[in-house]
Amino acid sequence: MQILLDVDFLIQASKNIADSAVLSLCRQKRCQGWVASTSIPAIWQEAGVRNVQSILRDVAVLTPTAHDIDLALGSKKPFTQALATRLVEAAGLDAVVTLAPENFSGLTVEALTPGQLQEKLDAPPEPVEEVRLLDITASYHQILNEVEKEMAETIRSGHFILGPKVSRLEERMADYCQTKYAVGVSSGTDALLIALMALGIGPGDEVITSPYTFFATAGSIIRAGAKPVFVDINDITFNIKPEHIERCITPNTKAIIPVHLYGQCTDMDPVLQLAGKKGLAVIEDAAQAIGSEYKGRPAGSLGDMGCFSFFPAKNLGGFGDGGLVTTNSKELYKQLKIIRVHGSEPKYYHKVIGGNFRLDALQADVVSAKLNFLEDWTEKRRGNAQTYNQLFKDSALTPFVQLPPEVFSRHVYNQYVIRMGSRRDELRTFLNEKRIGCEIYYPIPLHLQDCFKSLSYKGGDFPESEKAARETLALPISHEVDRAQQEYVVQMIHRFFLGE
Ligand SMILES: *Cc1c(COP(=O)(O)O)cnc(C)c1O
Repeated sequence: MQILLDVDFLIQASKNIADSAVLSLCRQKRCQGWVASTSIPAIWQEAGVRNVQSILRDVAVLTPTAHDIDLALGSKKPFTQALATRLVEAAGLDAVVTLAPENFSGLTVEALTPGQLQEKLDAPPEPVEEVRLLDITASYHQILNEVEKEMAETIRSGHFILGPKVSRLEERMADYCQTKYAVGVSSGTDALLIALMALGIGPGDEVITSPYTFFATAGSIIRAGAKPVFVDINDITFNIKPEHIERCITPNTKAIIPVHLYGQCTDMDPVLQLAGKKGLAVIEDAAQAIGSEYKGRPAGSLGDMGCFSFFPAKNLGGFGDGGLVTTNSKELYKQLKIIRVHGSEPKYYHKVIGGNFRLDALQADVVSAKLNFLEDWTEKRRGNAQTYNQLFKDSALTPFVQLPPEVFSRHVYNQYVIRMGSRRDELRTFLNEKRIGCEIYYPIPLHLQDCFKSLSYKGGDFPESEKAARETLALPISHEVDRAQQEYVVQMIHRFFLGE
């Protein structure tokens, strides 16, 4: 539950913080408390700086925009209550905690006394009625103030393109992925494209990849001017099957792009061995796999380059588009940096043709702030996967749904994908009716997409990919999903297959 703490309540509580039940609930994370920045001077005046600092350790600061203030000023109600109401609504909070709920009468906000809040939190939880596939704003309480700090620095400096914030993120990401270098770019898609360009791959070249992936993997190969050559997947991991690669290698083959789909690494040893033998480059599409590992080594450090995405739905997402390429090669690092700025080196002298592939400093700010939480969130996802596995087993559902196995630890579960026989679409409709978010990644394998007709593939060419596209369904798994929600999901799947 997310609550705004009204200034009258905070003034009283700040005089005896140790005794405040509500502040202690916030400290224990039984609810998420916010204080409007406009309330701080009054609390400071009444209770002194130490007490304000102490409160701010347990609650986050919500800063009204000029527009929020404008609206509150224009309201017929007293300003303080009108602004609190506006903030609760605009930020999607649940209630305001106040000593005088009557001051909020006639306003469209739930106003609770500290006692009523306590009662609400102590009451048995309301039954779950909705589980979203992803709820990005649910993490704002954890990250928003740090994000705001980073973004304010950038806005005040005016340094929006590359610059120190992007460099700092690159260093931290290289460290996180245990590579020597990282280059921030404009998206995960552009990470793939720029990686291909850095290798000099273009017309006449072939690049081997999986047909069961997000469009960008193959789209980037075509945009680089080369030809994607698809190889079917392993039916357990959904990743490219290394045994099938060799027979697809021709004299034109230049690289392999294994995709670490859903957050689990491809079986990389045979891929790397083959690539070494044949002199091919390996670009990891690690867009879904930040923090995943293969035999103790992080995704992005396994091939010649690793490509990451900061799309908001990825495990480490920005407030918009962004991406990153990791590498251990100094040569590739230099190429990537040149191609990122139109091939310019020095400025306005172009030896190669690049593009605008730059990462915004503001996105780097968001990603930097969230990176501090990535390990926590990843462990929470892994815990949620364990919980699902157990719940499915306990509900005798394993004859009906196949659970996602962790073949290579560690799986980071960008998606938790179950698989079943013929009733996938029916189940999806059923779950949507029960207000459970679920999604198909991906309904049409790439070799059957209209835009790739000229590659002359046909239905039946990659039976495992086609089967996976018919049988898989992703369930809500993000770190914000709690056990009660997971129980609801499994209970509804039980109802679908086995009745009440
Ligand atoms: C998301 C994704 C991409 C593309 O990343 P964007 O940042 O959205 O451009 C590429 N490959 C895979 C496997 C992805 O999931």
